[in-house]
Amino acid sequence: MAVPTGRKSAFDLHDQPDVEKYLDCIHCGMCLPTCPTYLVLGNEMDNPRGRIYLIRAASEGQIGITSNFVKHMYSCLLCRACETACPSSVQFGSLMEAARGQIERHYERPLSERVLRRFVFSLFPYPERLQRALALLRLYQQTGLQALLRGTGLLKTLSRSLAMMDALMPPRGAMPAARSLPEVTPPEGTRRARVGLLSGCVQRVMFGPVNEATVRVLAKNGCEVVVPREQGCCGSLQAHEGELEPAKAFARRTIEVFERAGVDYVIVNAAGCGSVMKEYHDLLREDAAWRDRAAAFSRKVRDVFQFVAGLDGDARLGEVRLTVTYHDACHLVHGQKVRSEPRTLLKQIPGLKLVDLKESEFCCGSAGIYNLVEPDLSLRYLERKLDRIAETGAEMVVSGNPGCNLQIAMGLEKRNLPIRTGHPVELLDLAYRAAGRSRGPLLS
Ligand code: SF4
Ligand code: SF4
Repeated sequence: MAVPTGRKSAFDLHDQPDVEKYLDCIHCGMCLPTCPTYLVLGNEMDNPRGRIYLIRAASEGQIGITSNFVKHMYSCLLCRACETACPSSVQFGSLMEAARGQIERHYERPLSERVLRRFVFSLFPYPERLQRALALLRLYQQTGLQALLRGTGLLKTLSRSLAMMDALMPPRGAMPAARSLPEVTPPEGTRRARVGLLSGCVQRVMFGPVNEATVRVLAKNGCEVVVPREQGCCGSLQAHEGELEPAKAFARRTIEVFERAGVDYVIVNAAGCGSVMKEYHDLLREDAAWRDRAAAFSRKVRDVFQFVAGLDGDARLGEVRLTVTYHDACHLVHGQKVRSEPRTLLKQIPGLKLVDLKESEFCCGSAGIYNLVEPDLSLRYLERKLDRIAETGAEMVVSGNPGCNLQIAMGLEKRNLPIRTGHPVELLDLAYRAAGRSRGPLLS
């Protein structure tokens, strides 16, 4: 409910930005130095305080949902760095998702934007479709069409978003075909928990080895791992983009599937997915039939590193000789407050040298579909991230989110930097496997 002002609110009554949440903002500005869009654009309306001001003004009917309002809401990366910095605990992510929900219901986007969004939302949340699309894209790479189009610059002329999708495609041979995971994997040793794994959409199709490594790491730590076949998208892309009804439908289905699996915990290895799943109770707050089920489900959700660190297991770690740096995925560090666990576990691996990454919490510009809808802006954040990565001297940069890994890999390739990317769980898995082998490199 908005503060009564006598003016007609620009928002309808469903999923409104919560007045209590925007009144929490005391305009102190402590979030400003952490906001990537403010640091790059330097505009008050492109920082958290300015955006909260705009949300309040629209909520109280002082402004409408204009193209200018939409621009400032969608220039936000939804990285939630402002939440970490805020002394007043403003729940900025929830406010922004609600504001975007209002935009998607009341604002008519230009045709080109509607087409792009329709394309993205009818492809990415559906692993089978994504799999088929990737098979075509492999053909596009193998026939030399990709090299031809890149050489002529035609894609860029046609659409910056299409060119960005093309650039994000891993090079030929760098993406192993996805294999299906066993529905149940038994624990090694005494069973400590029965856990479900969200296999994800992009993670399942483009980063199958990350899911395989996650299952092995969980089993090594005494978990029976269930990967329900009927699971689908968790709805995170839609929730971040204000497509709230489809997001809720995906959330209800995910809750049902994991309830049926009878698991103690639901483990996630993609930061954006985990962050939304831990907040299903907020997404479904107006749904009396699902609110409590959503809250019970959210309490079971754990990021894989948060979970494994909490188990305090004693499985042996072998040597992995690598210099590695760690990039904090926004929805892991700011959305879920998982900061120390991946670092602690990586530091325990013999032979692995973990080097600090300056500004590790600064967004890489991937941000869900931000890199597709705002490609030019996205590249400005990426350039800053690449500068910092290059300074570390690391051979590998790891991050707990598939979007970050695609984005950073694309940037490293463009700069011709010989630094590989990966998920930290792959390194933990390598270390466990190395413990059972003779000495020698496991990564080539
Ligand atoms: S979510 Fe990120 S980009 Fe958006 S206002 Fe907060 S700090 Fe800035
Ligand atoms: S730090 Fe929090 S209270 Fe201060 S301006 Fe930013 S959002 Fe508002």
